[in-house]
Amino acid sequence: MSFELPKLGYAYTALEPLIDARTMEIHHTKHHGGYTANLNAALQGSGHEGKTIEEIMKIAGTLPAAVRNNGGGYYNHNLYWEILTPGGSKEPRGVLLDAIRESFGSLTALKDAFVKAAITRFGSGWAWLLLDNNKLVVSSTPNQDNPLMDVAEVKGRPVLGIDVWEHAYYLNYQNRRPDYVEAFWNLINWDEVTRRFKG
Ligand code: MN
Repeated sequence: MSFELPKLGYAYTALEPLIDARTMEIHHTKHHGGYTANLNAALQGSGHEGKTIEEIMKIAGTLPAAVRNNGGGYYNHNLYWEILTPGGSKEPRGVLLDAIRESFGSLTALKDAFVKAAITRFGSGWAWLLLDNNKLVVSSTPNQDNPLMDVAEVKGRPVLGIDVWEHAYYLNYQNRRPDYVEAFWNLINWDEVTRRFKG
């Protein structure tokens, strides 16, 4: 059994003008495709071939760097494509909005914390909204690490994540990471975030 690059639920052009088609195509086929192929290669003969990606994440710190990095890249991008949607969606409501208010006070306060985590992550990495013991928290991780990993500073189940590697935005935004983060915020599929929140 090997991992497969998932198809996107929308066209590469669907997130324009906020995320351009060329960035989407390269990001999906070359970057995510690369992590997928390299993960499969790294797992061959490792004794971990039958594990789910979540099981691999839980022991990532004990595995070779190629498995940790490419496994994280595989998992993180699967989430990234799914929590984006053309045109964005309405604001979160229901149980998710209640939990956001309980943890952060307001949706605006969550956005401020999430944007700050994304902008201040030095170098390549991700910012997250995650469930830590049934409480929503914001964190960030370096490289392709994520909150599922045993090595994460803040552990939990990711419900929302933004890729702040330059490959995610450089063609359109160059050094303007804050503009990309703002664009991303306007493309969030809150229905999918809610689904992940409910688990
Ligand atoms: Mn990426």
